[in-house]
Amino acid sequence: MKKIAIYPGSFDPITYGHLDIVKRALKIFDSIIIAVASNSKKTALFTPDERVQLIRLAVKDLPRVTVDWFEGLTVEYAEKRKVNAIVRGLRAVSDFEYEFQMAHMNKRLKPDMETFFLPTGESLFYLSSQIVKEVALLGGDISGMVPEVAAKWLKEKVLTRSSYIKIREGD
Ligand code: ADP
Repeated sequence: MKKIAIYPGSFDPITYGHLDIVKRALKIFDSIIIAVASNSKKTALFTPDERVQLIRLAVKDLPRVTVDWFEGLTVEYAEKRKVNAIVRGLRAVSDFEYEFQMAHMNKRLKPDMETFFLPTGESLFYLSSQIVKEVALLGGDISGMVPEVAAKWLKEKVLTRSSYIKIREGD
């Protein structure tokens, strides 16, 4: 039987931290489904569709990886895909409390569900989509933090945002 895991998250946008987790999870699992949660409480910069497209471009050379999106509970999506393993990355102690709670909640909702945590790559622990977005919006250099295609799309977003803000300021 094939070992398949879901790697759920916001991925707004995908970073090298996420990619590192995917590559390492592929050593354990036969395939990984990266699943964009479209109903995250976080305000997103990219639409779910854009996030899926970006991830597809970023993982195009990685075999055994598919990309999808879902709405609602991760465990229900996993069940629909007939998968009972969830992969999550742990950066710092600050991630731990929430991740631990989620893992237990998911197990309570679906007792068959197992969560596998992978620690972040040591040079990537400071990376989060949030901080990358903040740096990009302030005009900082984000190359080396996100795949090239994501850096390009971020720059474009920043430009459309600032022209939008300028238009609004001129109201
Ligand atoms: P969520 O909104 O569900 O936290 P994220 O896109 O922020 O989604 O993250 C998805 C998963 O990837 C989470 O488990 C998160 O801890 C992990 N992750 C994010 N950035 C990194 C990183 N730099 N190194 C390792 N894991 C990471």
